[in-house]
Amino acid sequence: MKIGIMGGTFDPIHYGHLLAAEEARRNLGIERLIFVPTGDPEYKNHDITPSEDRYAMTLLATAGVLEYSVSRIEIDRKEATYTIDTLRAFIESGIKPEDLFFITGLDAMLSITSWYDYEHIPELCTLVTANRPGYPVSGIEKLPKFIRDKLKYIEIPQFAISSTEIRERARDGRGIRFLVPHLVEIYIESNKLYKR
Ligand code: ATP
Ligand code: MG
Repeated sequence: MKIGIMGGTFDPIHYGHLLAAEEARRNLGIERLIFVPTGDPEYKNHDITPSEDRYAMTLLATAGVLEYSVSRIEIDRKEATYTIDTLRAFIESGIKPEDLFFITGLDAMLSITSWYDYEHIPELCTLVTANRPGYPVSGIEKLPKFIRDKLKYIEIPQFAISSTEIRERARDGRGIRFLVPHLVEIYIESNKLYKR
């Protein structure tokens, strides 16, 4: 069974994440898609929303979609979490590398050579990346060959939205409706998430 992993801070999860993940799933015949929100950073670099809120919003955004689930693997880990560790954990749970797909947007993939232990990532999974407005597809050519050999590029409808912009809109009282799933919008409003 093909398994897709979509990692992210998801602060908050929005339709750009969902669209990229779903298009990757359909394109590659992935049967199960696992969303993996990042844990709380050990040292507070900037004010990321607590992981339990980000986890709750990811659950609300994906609820009811048969192929989707949300993993607490990075949230429950006490130490700093790296993509390589998460992928290794899925492999140790019995998934074969040929069945494991790690999905990102283009901005994330273009920075892969700065990830911890990235040299070993292509041994563990197929990489999948979707275009994202503002990031040139030509950047892929500059990635090392051993990355490109395991990388599949998919073209999705351009969705020029980021969590950063949604946080700013929520803070300023500009609407976030139709940028995030309805239940995520309600969660943000009732918990006044980005107001402080
Ligand atoms: P922030 O502005 O806080 O960085 P973000 O919108 O970039 O938030 P992340 O949680 O950082 O969201 O990203 C998680 C993953 O989703 C990354 O692989 C990123 O490239 C991808 N992604 C996010 N938004 C989009 C989008 N609009 N289109 C395609 N991919 C996206
Ligand atoms: Mg980002």
